[in-house]
Amino acid sequence: MRVNLSEMFGTNVFSLEVMRQRLPKKVYNEVVDVMNHGGNISMATADIVANAMKDWAVEKGATHYTHWFQPLTGVTAEKHDSFLTAPQDSKTLLQLTGKQLIMGEPDASSFPSGGLRDTHYARGYTAWDMTSPAFVKEMSCGTILCIPTIFVSYNGEALDKKTPLLRSMEAINTQALRILRLFGNTQAQKVTPQVGPEQEYFLVDREKYLKRRDLIYTGRTLFGAPAPKGQELDDQYFGVIRERVGAFMADLNEELWKLGIPATTQHNEVAPSQHELAPIYTPCNLAVDQNQLTMETMKRVATRHNLVCLLHEKPYAGVNGSGKHNNWSIGTDTGENLLDPGDTPNENLQFLLVLACILRAVDRHAGLLRCSASCVGNEHRLGAQEAPPAIISIFLGDQLEHVVEQIVSNADSIQLLAAGKLDSGVASVPVIMKDATDRNRTSPFAFTGNKFEFRMVGSSDTIADANITLNAIVAQALCEAADILEHAEDFNAACTKLIHDWMTEHRRVIFNGNGYSDEWVAEAARRGLPNLRSLVDAVPYLVTDQTVELYETFGIYTKSELEARAEIRYETYAKVLRIEGKTMIHMASKHYIPAAITYTTRLGESISSVSAACPGADLSVQKGLLERVSSCLAEASAALEQLKLLMARVDAIEEMEDMAHAYHDAVVPAMTALRIPVDELELLVDKDIWPVPTYGDLMFEV
Ligand code: ADP
Ligand code: MG
Repeated sequence: MRVNLSEMFGTNVFSLEVMRQRLPKKVYNEVVDVMNHGGNISMATADIVANAMKDWAVEKGATHYTHWFQPLTGVTAEKHDSFLTAPQDSKTLLQLTGKQLIMGEPDASSFPSGGLRDTHYARGYTAWDMTSPAFVKEMSCGTILCIPTIFVSYNGEALDKKTPLLRSMEAINTQALRILRLFGNTQAQKVTPQVGPEQEYFLVDREKYLKRRDLIYTGRTLFGAPAPKGQELDDQYFGVIRERVGAFMADLNEELWKLGIPATTQHNEVAPSQHELAPIYTPCNLAVDQNQLTMETMKRVATRHNLVCLLHEKPYAGVNGSGKHNNWSIGTDTGENLLDPGDTPNENLQFLLVLACILRAVDRHAGLLRCSASCVGNEHRLGAQEAPPAIISIFLGDQLEHVVEQIVSNADSIQLLAAGKLDSGVASVPVIMKDATDRNRTSPFAFTGNKFEFRMVGSSDTIADANITLNAIVAQALCEAADILEHAEDFNAACTKLIHDWMTEHRRVIFNGNGYSDEWVAEAARRGLPNLRSLVDAVPYLVTDQTVELYETFGIYTKSELEARAEIRYETYAKVLRIEGKTMIHMASKHYIPAAITYTTRLGESISSVSAACPGADLSVQKGLLERVSSCLAEASAALEQLKLLMARVDAIEEMEDMAHAYHDAVVPAMTALRIPVDELELLVDKDIWPVPTYGDLMFEV
């Protein structure tokens, strides 16, 4: 099938171009002005925009509209209302009013609020976010006009991820502009964080998926012995894409392109049946929306191919899990990237100042940044010998680290490392110039040319929290720098001194080595860097005095909004673990133990009949197996009872925080204790009797 990419791209987006074509000039200008500079549009204008939006959507086949928002569940929410008005004489008009466009009032009480509602009101409002374009989504339930909105309580508290994100973008805009003005830049009017999230995912055959209650209820396997083959041959990474997966990818790309999502890179990832998609970077808020849409579309398109897309961070033990690399930079409306070092970073004072600010931000708020990537599934990645470690450090690469070292040691003049030649030794291949800097796979926060790559975010998680945090902590450091430098008598001298001082103070966060090594864990402890191995250890950083001060200063979160988010994280942790525990109990009781009993019975019967038929036969194999299976069975049964007991005890705990800790400290080990004998049974029991598809079936038969 031929695809005309340029014609298809963005056809389902109510873009600026569509608005320009469909709105009266005055109305269009008013809308663009509010988009760029904030403020309110009049109801008369809203009516005109709403009507144009409805007409456009109806032409696309839309029957309904929805306010599309991102509550604290971490996924998106939508409630569809049709464009119908009350029929008269069997006829109806289709309508979308300005009021319907601008505001909605979903019942807030069914969304997590972390206690914000208990002390206030149950009402929640969605309000049109004009910075993100409306779009139509083609689904089996119809074509729906989606209007991106924020979601706030009656008192204006953020009940969503979008509101603080927009607030954080304003903070970085204001503070970065102050810095740019200090360097004599009078042109730039707006500074926007730019984000490109690389998304990893697994695909699994739908029929097999439906046979696994753990995949259905929790998105990951809670049991499963390793398959004979894993990822050890490295033959999957960048390997040729199999036909069925390729058909999925082609279909997915088309859906994303229609939605204006610039999906650009696709490849097989390290683990069997693991893949990656990366879009071209866009402004931060759009990237957050588009990543949500990407995840949703992946799931929807997979079903069409009789596949299921697993976004869980660790669907299978023993092979790599999935994450998201959140590529982040700061750009001006005049096309300058503040993170671009240029050819001579040693002489680029503005870049060095921005770099010093980022070092300061990340070092000072390492715990908070770690917390921003704390979703429950990520427990299995961070600190578990894969993906980034749980310790926040920054990789700068040889070139920049060399520059920082010279600055810290007050070198007279700052030199660059020479870029070497890369000579492959093959005469017919041209010799190319290589960067002075190699890459580092193990760093959670790596400088990659003109952006930082925050690699901790979980594959299923929203990227909103990571970007709110990055924007906020960097805005704070930029603000501090501007406060100092705006009063300096000799700007260059003051700036050079500030860069020196901050690089000296925060260089401990720079680490170029192997982040997986035990030496790094010890070294990081010596340097005083936090090593937060679990979500439950990271959440307290959301509500420290330092965090509250940061967010309140820039109007991003109030203290109560932060407390609410901490509460929700603990609650979600406990709930997810409860579902996992219950699923294990279910599978052990209903699937595994009965299967093992069937097998032992069959073995016993076979032993009796063989010895009857042939009294002297050697039955040591059958008897040995029977003994081994029976002993695993007994172990599994005891572990099952123990898990039930523990969960009943833990669920009686009143405080959410305590309950989350108890799940972490007591229930997780009990779950492991149940898994071990069951996984051993899988290797012993006849495949015909084994009740569920195995790792080999799931990972290698896609
Ligand atoms: P890498 O190979 O370094 O991971 P890629 O070119 O594959 O880099 O880019 C990875 C992601 O980073 C893509 O989504 C890309 O659009 C994004 N990206 C590239 N440049 C920037 C930038 N300046 N700011 C933010 N994201 C960027
Ligand atoms: Mg990358």
